[in-house]
Amino acid sequence: MSEACFVSSTGQEIPIIITTKRGLRNITLRPKTAPVCEIHISKPFLVSEKQAFRFIEQKRKWLENIFNNAPHKKTLKAGDEIDILGRKVLIQHNSNSRLNRYIPGDYKDTLIVGGSPDLLESRVRSVVKKVLLDEIKKLIKTTPKEYWPARISLKDTCSRWGSCSSSGTMSFSWRLAFAPYDVMRYVVMHEVAHRKYMDHSADFWHQVSVLYGFGVERAKRWLSKNGASLHTYL
Ligand SMILES: [Zn+2]
Repeated sequence: MSEACFVSSTGQEIPIIITTKRGLRNITLRPKTAPVCEIHISKPFLVSEKQAFRFIEQKRKWLENIFNNAPHKKTLKAGDEIDILGRKVLIQHNSNSRLNRYIPGDYKDTLIVGGSPDLLESRVRSVVKKVLLDEIKKLIKTTPKEYWPARISLKDTCSRWGSCSSSGTMSFSWRLAFAPYDVMRYVVMHEVAHRKYMDHSADFWHQVSVLYGFGVERAKRWLSKNGASLHTYL
């Protein structure tokens, strides 16, 4: 399976899955928006992958339109409540302030977004990313130092929640911020375990359990069942 991605103008990475079919006369393109977002492309035997990618580029406008208006995307507005790492957060807007304010509460937290109202979503996105990144860093600090990554980056991937390169860069989907805390913690410990084992061998899974503790299967199940819902907002 090809590892190629379609990167939209908003930075969303959509995996491209190419299959070759004998007897097919034209390239067919099938964008999927739920429960995963993927671009499926079938090409005739004589069409190269390069030509298939070129075809996708020609259809860029059409594809972006589909993914940007996918039915599961909701517009975020003041008064809405979102879940950030299992905490309820009420979104409010104050155009008199230029700054964002995050106020923790007993029952729920409040995020007061400053600035122009049309920047509300992008400002919420940056707050959410920062909250997530801080938590990821805290979690990594609880693991043995030899497992720490050289670099951590946040991405907007559709099908992978985390990855770890051999050079020691760990990447996470920033949308994990919308998942329960323990689900995010599982993804972090999964990638940390890859610092020791770059495969998914029994030794690797044992390492994940050592780092995470009890409940790995439950976290995995949650992601496969609810992963698409992390794309509801923004
Ligand atoms: Zn893995």
